[in-house]
Amino acid sequence: MNGNKKVTEIFGTSVFNESVMRERLPKDTYKALKKTIDFGYPLQPAVADVVASAMKDWAIEKGATHYTHWFQPMTGKTAEKHDSFIEPTTDGRVIMDFSGKQLIQGEPDASSFPSGGLRATFEARGYTAWDCTSPAFIRDETLFIPTAFCSYTGEALDKKTPLLRSMEAINVQALRVLRLFGDEDTTRVLTTVGPEQEYFIVDKKLFQQRKDLIFAGRTLFGARPPKGQEMEDHYFGSIKERINEFMKQIDEELWKLGVLSKTKHNEVAPAQHEMAPIFSTTNIATDHNQLVMDVMIRVANRLDLACLLHEKPFAGVNGSGKHNNWSLSTNKGQNLLNPGDTPHENTQFLTFLAAIIAAVDEYAPLLRMSAANAGNDHRLGANEAPPAIISIFLGEQLTDIVNQIEAGELKACKDPGVLDIGVQTLPHFVKDVTDRNRTSPFAFTGNKFEFRMVGSSQSISGANIVLNTIVAEQLKRIADELEQADDFNGKLKEIITRLVKNHSRVVFDGDGYSDEWVEEAARRGLPNIKTTVEALTYFDEPASVELFTTHGVFTEGEIMARQEIMFEEYAKTINIEALTMIEMAKKEIIPACMDYATTLADSINTIRAASSAADISVQEDLLVKVSSLTAQAQAKLNGLLQVLEETVEIEEMEEKAAAYKDKVYAAMTELRKPCDELEGLVSEEYWPIPSYIDLLFRV
Ligand code: ADP
Ligand code: MG
Repeated sequence: MNGNKKVTEIFGTSVFNESVMRERLPKDTYKALKKTIDFGYPLQPAVADVVASAMKDWAIEKGATHYTHWFQPMTGKTAEKHDSFIEPTTDGRVIMDFSGKQLIQGEPDASSFPSGGLRATFEARGYTAWDCTSPAFIRDETLFIPTAFCSYTGEALDKKTPLLRSMEAINVQALRVLRLFGDEDTTRVLTTVGPEQEYFIVDKKLFQQRKDLIFAGRTLFGARPPKGQEMEDHYFGSIKERINEFMKQIDEELWKLGVLSKTKHNEVAPAQHEMAPIFSTTNIATDHNQLVMDVMIRVANRLDLACLLHEKPFAGVNGSGKHNNWSLSTNKGQNLLNPGDTPHENTQFLTFLAAIIAAVDEYAPLLRMSAANAGNDHRLGANEAPPAIISIFLGEQLTDIVNQIEAGELKACKDPGVLDIGVQTLPHFVKDVTDRNRTSPFAFTGNKFEFRMVGSSQSISGANIVLNTIVAEQLKRIADELEQADDFNGKLKEIITRLVKNHSRVVFDGDGYSDEWVEEAARRGLPNIKTTVEALTYFDEPASVELFTTHGVFTEGEIMARQEIMFEEYAKTINIEALTMIEMAKKEIIPACMDYATTLADSINTIRAASSAADISVQEDLLVKVSSLTAQAQAKLNGLLQVLEETVEIEEMEEKAAAYKDKVYAAMTELRKPCDELEGLVSEEYWPIPSYIDLLFRV
């Protein structure tokens, strides 16, 4: 593919997007559908029939034979079951058929998806419901219809339903605030997201020789290579040809699917790269990010490469995250996190800013939880990208303004809806380009916030559900107070000053990686939640239940179910890792070490027999070291087997997850040590699995 014209020609060709709808749907149908998409009006069955038929014709012209309700179960992956359009006729032929009902609702057999006890197996049926706010698209020969996935009693069993609910919650509350500022025109407030996706690429042949990469997505053994990322020569470095081919092909596929893939570059660690799209509404950004991950894995495979989305594939070099750039936008495209050009707009900006600062401080544990999984435990707080302590970076200018507000320098003006902060208008904040802001988990970058804790393999849904809901809650409280106030401006001044004063402890512009910050954060009373297991315990606290139920994002039952699923997911992940380590140590590493020891022993015997004068101290020394480390490895392997046996027996899920963290994971670390040391001693030709050097530098 060459040239700009080609890109514009292929972009969105596999998507049933707005322009296709306008072209293919009767005017009335199009209008009715648009109302549903933009304002959530219910869709009439007759309209659905017309849309379904047009969608089917379009899809068949594009070579589709099947359709699928595409959904996002609690596994964090996507799910699809393909049905063909064929319908038999009485004379033994088939026609291609697709009804409104088939478009709107599906009934996948849901019994094998995690439900956290919400759906007992005997009533396993769940249903999928068309999410018309995210456009349908074609992959291979199938029409994909984005759907929400619920139980028959209406509980969400997926990651999309609560996300849509949280978008509605923040829409409602943000609109209330805008109305109070005299904005009568805005009809909808949307959250926008641009997720930057980091990943590693390794050679497929090497990948296939490592059971840990195959089963766990990360290396469970591996001695550090002589060179890591210390030369800082990979970040933004020249892109290798094979990688470039990969990036080119993912761009092509993503563009066809309407994904606004924009930026590609090498990341900090060797073999690490990043892709960033242009932002879109949260719902679509989330669907698209799922597609991005899927396309990456498939294209890599096609090119004899393997794409690693795990948060920490390699010890000793950076892991991968997903920067979740987040903002609020009106249906007219006004970014509410842009300071604006008038004092009025500035005041409104300060109101939203104060709400966000308060939300992040008050609900920091929930944000932390939204980025928690077993993989991310290796990153957060491990002296690379962000610490486990949630803080907000505002940049110099904005921090200055916040300090002024805290010092009581905010004045109410006579002009309605305008506050005076001593300057005429706020500056348009230029992005802070200093390095230090990279250490902040939640950074203001000019006209959006960047939540940097999310793990590279995670769905971004969880983080955005929490963000949307906690900000909705603060906006609700602000609107509640302002609606009762006689003196709008005086009240607003009081609220903003109070929020800033009460929550400024979360604002921190310094080095988030430093030990001083850990101490300082503790003095400020900021939580430092180090592990997934700890983070998950905040989900069902009364304040969290109150928050999510008030805004209709989760019912209490859904919270309990999700918490259970996440504990279980953690436990299962560590269990798989432990079993994989056992398998590799027992069948690959220890036997290889024994072979090598035998070779050393043979050499000693042979040389000794040949000449009593020969110096065999090297072999002898090595033999002693190798056999003693091999014995250690075996002992640690036995230790791991032992704790694993005990842990598997635990029934209660939270307790089980905690045991996997405290006991099993600890035993895994113990087993890794002698094995990695052995890798440094055993001759390369005996070592049974590709090394870090192979994986990181031989792509
Ligand atoms: P970087 O953070 O790497 O310096 P940018 O700031 O240019 O790069 O953009 C990072 C991501 O933020 C991109 O995906 C971009 O589309 C997204 N972004 C920009 N503006 C917004 C916004 N208003 N809302 C959400 N995401 C945004
Ligand atoms: Mg960024």
